[in-house]
Amino acid sequence: MSGDIGFVGLGNMGGPMAARLAAEGHRLTVADAAPGVAAAFAAEHPTAQVADGNASFARTATLVLMLPDSDVVEQVLEGDGLAEALPPGCLVIDMSSSEPLRTRALARRLADRGLSLLDAPVSGGVRGARAGTLSVLAGGAPKDLERAAPLLRAMARTIVPVGGTGCGHAAKALNNLVSAATVSVTVEALALGEAFGIPPETMTQVLNSSSGRTNTSENKVAQFMTSGSFDSGFALRLMSKDVDIAVGLARSLDRTAELSGHVADQWRRVARSVPPRTDHTAMYALLGTAADEEAKEATR
Ligand code: NAD
Repeated sequence: MSGDIGFVGLGNMGGPMAARLAAEGHRLTVADAAPGVAAAFAAEHPTAQVADGNASFARTATLVLMLPDSDVVEQVLEGDGLAEALPPGCLVIDMSSSEPLRTRALARRLADRGLSLLDAPVSGGVRGARAGTLSVLAGGAPKDLERAAPLLRAMARTIVPVGGTGCGHAAKALNNLVSAATVSVTVEALALGEAFGIPPETMTQVLNSSSGRTNTSENKVAQFMTSGSFDSGFALRLMSKDVDIAVGLARSLDRTAELSGHVADQWRRVARSVPPRTDHTAMYALLGTAADEEAKEATR
């Protein structure tokens, strides 16, 4: 892919993802709302320059967004006017975990401006972002995916073409619904085991050698939960947002998703009661605590 790459959103994921592109020699124009973040990135990566307003993206062939949610994606592109500054033919790749129906509507509005949109959210966490081993779940026109593939391959080991516009974002929300449910149920099993006299470390060993094994039991419990570090780099409020997207999808399809609704309620309740940057692995410390019980009472 030729031409300049714009990259907006250099947080826990976007920072290391953009760093992978810079390491391959791509010229990057970077922006982030948090003061000093873009400048710090450019200081570390000689091929990157800090955007000085939307005009800096006037020659951008591909714009990558790694932002918290659809609200922010729409704000950046439309509210703040970045879409107006992009040249016709620019491919916008939304790698954030956004809302599929809003993505479809956004794609139509961008098409009116001569811009294409690919939804390409990722799985694999901060570790995968640093290592360039993410999975990309892609939604959009095959020709746009083909165009984006060399750039995506700098950040990902696996690219799954999921379907048309919005399918990547739908698949990502559904994946995280499963992931959140396994965190919830694993944390419950560990607490019940402990109450019965089985140490969490032993119970984790049990899960990892048995049919209850999941990504949560293998890659989160010992590393971020029982260790007490709670620093996987994925915020609890973002996971809660993803589960809400999945449940919203069920609602929009007029489908019942009973268990998913319970999972969403639980994550929403806990997300409301903790500081915004609390890691999602802190569910281990939060579920069943006195503070959680109070929050549960307050929302009854
Ligand atoms: P983050 O909060 O660490 O990063 C978001 C970045 O966007 C921040 O640096 C913030 O300053 C910036 N930002 C916010 N509003 C902005 C605006 N108006 N203009 C420019 N920059 C703005 O979040 P993250 O963990 O990097 O997650 C980003 C997306 O990726 C989310 O949709 C999340 O659900 C998804 N995701 C996260 C992980 C993970 O492990 N952290 C894994 C897969 C997917």
